[in-house]
Amino acid sequence: MSSLQPNVAVIGAGCAGLAAAARLAEHAVPVTLFEASPHLGGRARGVSWKTLSLDNGQHILLGAYSETLRLLELVGNKPEDVFLRMPLQLHMHRELKLNACPILPAPLHILAGLLLAQGLPFSERFVAIRFMAWMKLKGFRLEEDETLGALLQRKHQPARLTRLLWEPLCLAALNTPVAQASAQVFLNVLRDSFAGNRADSDMLLPRCDLSSLLADPMAMYIERKGGRVLRSASVVTLNKPDNFLVETEDGARESFTHVVLATSPFRLQPLLQHFPSMAECVRTVSQFEYQPIYTVYLQYPQSVRLDSAMMGFASGKDQDLHSQWVFDRGWLCNQPGLLAVVISAEGHHQELTQQALAESVASEISSAFPHLPPPLWHKVIAEKRATFACRPEMARPSQKTSVPGLSLAGDYSTDGLTANLYPATIEGAVRSGVQCAEHILSDIGRKQQ
Ligand SMILES: Cc1cc2nc3c(=O)[nH]c(=O)nc-3n(C[C@H](O)[C@H](O)[C@H](O)COP(=O)(O)OP(=O)(O)OC[C@H]3O[C@@H](n4cnc5c(N)ncnc54)[C@H](O)[C@@H]3O)c2cc1C
Repeated sequence: MSSLQPNVAVIGAGCAGLAAAARLAEHAVPVTLFEASPHLGGRARGVSWKTLSLDNGQHILLGAYSETLRLLELVGNKPEDVFLRMPLQLHMHRELKLNACPILPAPLHILAGLLLAQGLPFSERFVAIRFMAWMKLKGFRLEEDETLGALLQRKHQPARLTRLLWEPLCLAALNTPVAQASAQVFLNVLRDSFAGNRADSDMLLPRCDLSSLLADPMAMYIERKGGRVLRSASVVTLNKPDNFLVETEDGARESFTHVVLATSPFRLQPLLQHFPSMAECVRTVSQFEYQPIYTVYLQYPQSVRLDSAMMGFASGKDQDLHSQWVFDRGWLCNQPGLLAVVISAEGHHQELTQQALAESVASEISSAFPHLPPPLWHKVIAEKRATFACRPEMARPSQKTSVPGLSLAGDYSTDGLTANLYPATIEGAVRSGVQCAEHILSDIGRKQQ
């Protein structure tokens, strides 16, 4: 029986760990957040470059990210101040223009958008609407998971429709190629984005770098509420002789009643080695595969501005392109002339040097927008293990573990319900962190009764 008053160690200050710590701090539970890096935010963080604040990768959030939005409000970042909010739209350069109809309730706004989409023949719009109607009828639930590619074939989605609509959506949401991606998780995302409130499908584009958006205000909130946020504090050993003993790289040791392990999945193993009952979890996570995301920043003269904040490119018509999405940071973050080109998932771009990739992307951008001058400089940020590959029926560890007081937060961990399975996203990470904090709060509540 623990002799300590409740106090919680959260290991890892990505979105999951920050969310867990903020929730605990909100309820006045003493909490210490350990982060190995000097910077908070993990895979969603700002990166300083020259005089600019870039991101480790351009992120996009959705109106359906309810826990993330609640947390942002809690820590004082009003969503209307920090996001450019746009009704769902899919503009694939020169090929497809789809705007959800903002005055209709969900899901009619999407169906109307599909019906009026420019660039798809009527037959393809009809097939897409029939597919959406089928998903809704099924409650977005498959009897058995399969790849999205197999499901699209089974539902007779033409190749062009897949290339212009389903593939870009799947890459953006699951960061996994259609041929490998879990159809059930894709349906979960569509359900949460398209079948709830109309505003759930809105796209939220950050107006500032990700550290200013998420990690910094959350850390300040945690500290304001009496919690501790320790940077450059890599946890090297976790043990549980009685209470949890947390040891950092510099040899410091502290005891805690509860631990939330919120590292990325590939960093779990060394911290679980003293817990034989977690061997199965370690095995499960060791089978994960990962997918990269590359962001190519191109700085043009400040006078350069695209017609919209975000535009997609679909490969396969005349040529294979590396570029998938371009974001104009002049529109978003007051960084005039700066474009961020995003390349999700695996591909031939990984075989190129960063210089060759930047040149190739710059040449694709200049063919798409011939009026642009050459870029002044470029910066490539390659996140090689950006997300787990979201495959059908993949085993994922649960937030609650076999070790009392130990929980797992992260975009990969689950509450065990198929309907709640999310791809690797900020919202998935935040939800898992909040869920772990809830388990701890109810445990503390039970012990105090
Ligand atoms: C380039 C890119 C683009 C993305 N785009 C989107 C997007 O558009 N929309 C979206 O919703 N999601 C997107 N994602 C996914 C999203 O960023 C992640 O799902 C989310 O940030 C994961 O958060 P996490 O807390 O689970 O893990 P992480 O962010 O990986 O956090 C884990 C933290 O633990 C720390 N740590 C590890 N070991 C230790 C240790 N021993 N001691 C102390 N600390 C430790 C790490 O340093 C890290 O800070 C993107 C990801 C990337 C990389």
